Amino acid sequence: MKLKNNVAVVTGAGSGIGRQISLSMAAEGASVAICDIDMEGAGKTVDMIGKEGKGEAAAFHMDVTSEDEVNKAMAAIAEKWGRIDTLVSNAGIQIVHPIEKFPYDQFRKLVTIHLDGAFLTTKAAVKYMYEQKSGSLIYMGSVHSHEASALKTAYVAAKHGILGLARVMAKEGAEHGVRSNVICPGFVKTPLVEKQIPEQAADLGISEEDVVNNVMLGGTVDKEFTTMQDVADVAVFLAGFGSNALTGQSILVSHGWVMN
Ligand code: NAD
Repeated sequence: MKLKNNVAVVTGAGSGIGRQISLSMAAEGASVAICDIDMEGAGKTVDMIGKEGKGEAAAFHMDVTSEDEVNKAMAAIAEKWGRIDTLVSNAGIQIVHPIEKFPYDQFRKLVTIHLDGAFLTTKAAVKYMYEQKSGSLIYMGSVHSHEASALKTAYVAAKHGILGLARVMAKEGAEHGVRSNVICPGFVKTPLVEKQIPEQAADLGISEEDVVNNVMLGGTVDKEFTTMQDVADVAVFLAGFGSNALTGQSILVSHGWVMN
């Protein structure tokens, strides 16, 4: 068990990548706080972990854009399990439009969930990590933390911003035994991506097949989607890594779409 006695907070854990990370962390012995605004999805993740019979999980309502909710949920998690070892800042949405059609309120909404959410959950989690003198901050970046794609001003700006935040946390966290890294997946078939396929086809005036083969997978070495399990495996590795040797990094899990 790689994560025995590890208390992990996962945001956006009621669906997709966050759910798989929660399942994989629990399978390695972690106690996992399933945080989301979608309590039905969060409850389902808790049930799935219960059925596996390894680790522990409980659902917490946490809107990552509300400082008050983030602080209260983080305090309740620390109260329940006594510590916080891992933060997976994963909650996110996607909105795609060319800039001339991108409503400003939609830009703000996306950036607030990704970037303010990462800031607020980090600020709340390090309070406990600094006291313990240990912890692992894991941010869900994207290939779009390094690359740009048309139609994604908000997403690419937010995902680049997460790299900056994570690098600052590697410097600030070091003296407290807290490391900070970013996982940068390529396209993973989750509800977030399924929704984009018809939207991008309409915006770009191409078929859905072309969106998948050329826009989404065109840059990969093998035209394959990254899987939720691929991403979860990296999250478990980062949560369990034992020293500050691995900090301030972004790990690309993208079938070679971006190499650096
Ligand atoms: P998803 O839509 O399946 O899950 C996102 C979860 O975040 C949902 O459960 C949703 O309820 C939750 N959420 C949304 N707003 C929230 C808020 N304000 N507070 C708390 N929770 C909130 O999406 P996913 O594909 O699993 O994406 C998860 C993360 O992975 C995102 O940060 C996304 O940008 C990133 N990512 C996804 C892909 C991909 O191809 N799917 C690739 C790279 C990065």
